[in-house]
Amino acid sequence: MNASPEYTSRDYTVSLPADEYIAVYRDARRFAACCRACPNYGRSWACPPFEFNVEEYLSGYRTALIIATKVTPLQSGMLLSETERLLRPERVRHERMLLDLEQRFGGRAFAYAGRCLYCPEGSCTRPEGRPCRHPEWVRPSLEACGFDLGRTTEELMGIPLRWGEGDRMPEYLTLVSGFFHNAGQIDLTKYQQER
Ligand code: SF4
Repeated sequence: MNASPEYTSRDYTVSLPADEYIAVYRDARRFAACCRACPNYGRSWACPPFEFNVEEYLSGYRTALIIATKVTPLQSGMLLSETERLLRPERVRHERMLLDLEQRFGGRAFAYAGRCLYCPEGSCTRPEGRPCRHPEWVRPSLEACGFDLGRTTEELMGIPLRWGEGDRMPEYLTLVSGFFHNAGQIDLTKYQQER
């Protein structure tokens, strides 16, 4: 459990065979349609359509490690428009951890979906057809690769996703990322102790 002045957070993890995760929790056609309806579609290098083949990108790994952080605001009924700011410290922590895991174990990281953290809002190079400024940091999300995160968190971790009502946040937010690898057991305690 971690506490900030504005929220508490708790990490949950689950590991399962990557083939099983792909077979049971991926619905590429359904989530591709969701992505196409998003205003970010094709406007950020972190979002689809990708320049790589997603099936190939997912292949070659034995294990899918899913990491979820449940973030509970201390004040109820916060404005939905505050979500990005509230989640930012946890997103930064996830993305640092994921890039470190890639360095250590050579796997494939999947970041939380949302506005890319690495350039000021509205300045992504993609709409102008120019290359990403930080391809070494940017990773696709599990949703953008076709995974059903509602089923993932509810069935594998016992965390139903919650959505806001009107302009207000739900009772908690859930940030989900992933790491596909061939490294055997991975201990994430080090990243939790750094919080
Ligand atoms: S790092 Fe910058 S250029 Fe690359 S995807 Fe993110 S916002 Fe776009």
